[in-house]
Order: sequence, then structure tokens, then C-alpha cells
Amino acid sequence: MSPTENTNVLQSTQAVIQEALTKLGYGPEMYELLKEPLRLLTVRIPIRMDDGKVKIFTGYRAQHNDAVGPTKGGVRFHPDVNEDEVKALSIWMSLKCGIVNLPYGGGKGGIVCDPRDMSFRELERLSRGYVRAISQMVGPSKDIPAPDVMTNSQIMAWMFDEYSRIREFDAPGFITGKPIVLGGSQGRETATAKGVTIMIDQALGKKGIHVKDAKVVIQGFGNAGSYLAKFMHEAGAIVIGISDVYGALYDPAGLDIPDLLDRRDSFGTVTKLFKSTLSNKELLEQECDILVPAAIENQITQENAGRIKAGIIVEAANGPTTLEATKILTDRGILLVPDVLASAGGVVVSYFEWVQNNQGYYWTEDEVHTKLKEVMEKAFETVYNVHQSRKVDMRLAAYMVGVRNTAEAARFRGWV
Ligand code: GLU
Repeated sequence: MSPTENTNVLQSTQAVIQEALTKLGYGPEMYELLKEPLRLLTVRIPIRMDDGKVKIFTGYRAQHNDAVGPTKGGVRFHPDVNEDEVKALSIWMSLKCGIVNLPYGGGKGGIVCDPRDMSFRELERLSRGYVRAISQMVGPSKDIPAPDVMTNSQIMAWMFDEYSRIREFDAPGFITGKPIVLGGSQGRETATAKGVTIMIDQALGKKGIHVKDAKVVIQGFGNAGSYLAKFMHEAGAIVIGISDVYGALYDPAGLDIPDLLDRRDSFGTVTKLFKSTLSNKELLEQECDILVPAAIENQITQENAGRIKAGIIVEAANGPTTLEATKILTDRGILLVPDVLASAGGVVVSYFEWVQNNQGYYWTEDEVHTKLKEVMEKAFETVYNVHQSRKVDMRLAAYMVGVRNTAEAARFRGWV
């Protein structure tokens, strides 16, 4: 990463939001409204740890904008969670919801912690403590949390139970990504990865490559990365590289994905079991057709963008590519499917879950998949058309499509 490159995700997002609004013809007031979340709550959560000592955790919940409808977005448990990141992530959720046309604004939450070092009961106490701390700010028609980095359906179940106890009514629509028996939706767990496979199909179509000939590298083996490896493998693509926080596995002839999936732990680590062949950084630069960053922010930068050999990059993670890198990749003719489009499958099926909860009527997995495919394909075409007709890169095109609903709703409400 060069010292001149901006890796602050909030500032980079604000820069593209400003450009998108200008291209759409909005004035500076709209940018002033949308550059920051409307609300950001910081909470301190005291938790009794298993050793009897009390530890104070810091958590956040940001609501970017609720002009379109209630805010929606996940809660991440990660040691690097910070205010600017949560703010940026809430803006990205508004963009995602706009791109796939959901009746939501964006929200996001996070707790500074490392769940890998915590026991099951400590995690339960922390999840419940977080809900008690933010309960006034959230609700089924106010702000609806969901899973994100290192949170899962068990954590959603504890949060749902805590909220229902506080409010003294059963409120399944308060949170999505729940276990099926608690009102979760079929297909929610695999939804982000499914959405990414739909984006890959669209991108391969534009490049005229058949999926069975496609060589794929996936960085990250968490919820999105591991299911994606499974789906790509099942579709006949050759998955030649995967990685986790500890390192990367690479085989140009194709990895044994079913075996790796069997041996992966619940946090998505597997490479420790092998003598790692590559570092995460080296993995990104291998020869392949499709590169999928499915881990964390700022992985493709000005420094390594020139050495990326993939023809297509599909961002399953939030914010893996800097703006400088986006420019380099676009100039090199690489087709980039940006995060706010590529990873929107998760929130689409979250929306389906919330609709099913509100109706009390549940759909089959096939119905969920058919509807998800329809929504994602339409979103890709819309963004791709803006990219071509307005001659802007795919990220700016996605921001233009994504910010429009929020800006229009704010205008109709008379806010700007
Ligand atoms: N955390 C996911 C995301 O970043 C899903 C959010 C949701 O389902 O509300 O898109």
C-alpha cells in the first residue's frame, strides 16, 4: 500500500457517493445528508467472563438513512471494528438495498471483540448484552440486524430471544439470519455465496467464458468464501486457490474442495492443517479467470493491482479494493463486479426472511432461489447498463444505481 493511498473506508465511500450524486444531478445538500449516517450509537457492554472477571466491550449501531424504510444490516464481531468502518458499512448497506430495490435503508453494527477467543456462554452473554444496549434503537419496522463477519444463526437466535423478552412479544421480524426453527428462511445461510455465483455467471457471459472452463481463486473461507467454493466446484469450475487468515492453498490442477469443506472449522480456518503453499497476498496474483476477494477490506491496492492476472473480479467481501486499485483494474480491462452489487444476495434473502416473518407464511428453498436469481440478474444488468451508457467504472455505476432510491425518497419527504 503506498503512503498516498487512502485506505479509510469511510472517506473512500464518501468520495464515490459524492461523484455518484453529482453525476445524477444532485446538489451539495444531498451529499451533506448522505455522507454520514443519520444516527450512530456507541455502547459499552459489561460482560462477566467465565473466569469471574468483568470485561467491558465496545459496540456500535449505525443507521445511515431511513428515508426509504427501516434500516437493515448485519452485526460484526471483530477486533478491528471501529466507528468509521461501521459508518461506511451502513452506507454500503443503503447502496446494496438500493441496487436490489429493497424497501430498506442501510444500517450496520459491530462489537470490538475476538469471538475466536471466547467461550460459547461468553458469546451468548455478549450477544444479549448488545441487544439490551441497543434495544431502543432497533425493531422489526425500525432497524433490522443480521449476521456479518464472525456472527451466525446462533448469535441471531440469542439476540432475537433477548429482544423478544425485553419487548414481551415474539418478534421474529426483529432480526434475520435466524435458525430455520425460529423463523429463519430457507437459503439464507448460503444466500451471499449464491448471489456471488449469479454475478459470476453474468460476468462470465459478458466475457464469453463457460463456467466449466473457468479457473477460480477465492480469498477467505468464511460463510461467503466456503459456500462459494462449494457452488463453483459443483458447477464444474476449477477452484485453484483458497485462503484463510493463516495462509493460502493453491493447486493449478484444482483443489479438493469437498475435503477442505469437511475439514474447515466454524470460523473458516483450514489451511493450518496443511503446509501452506502461498501467502494471502501471493494468492491474489495467481493466473486465473475469476478472483473473488471474500475476506476483509483493502486487499487489492495500488501496490498489487497491476499484478492481478484475473480477467474478472467479483467482490464478495465489503470493501476489498481501494479506489486507486479500482481505477488501475478498470484501465486494464478487468471486469470488476463491486461489493455493493456482488454481495447483495445476503440482504436480499434477509428481506425474504422478514417478509415471511411478517406474513407468517414460509417459502420453499426453490422459491427463494428463483426469486434471488431474478433480483440479482436484474441488478447486474441495471448496473452494467449504467457502466456502459454513462461510461463510468462498475463501482461508480453501482453507486449511482444504489444511491438513487435513498436520494429520491429523501427528496419526496422534503428533507433536501
Ligand atoms: N451482513 C450482510 C451484508 O453485509 C447481510 C446484511 C443483512 O442481511 O441484513 O450484506
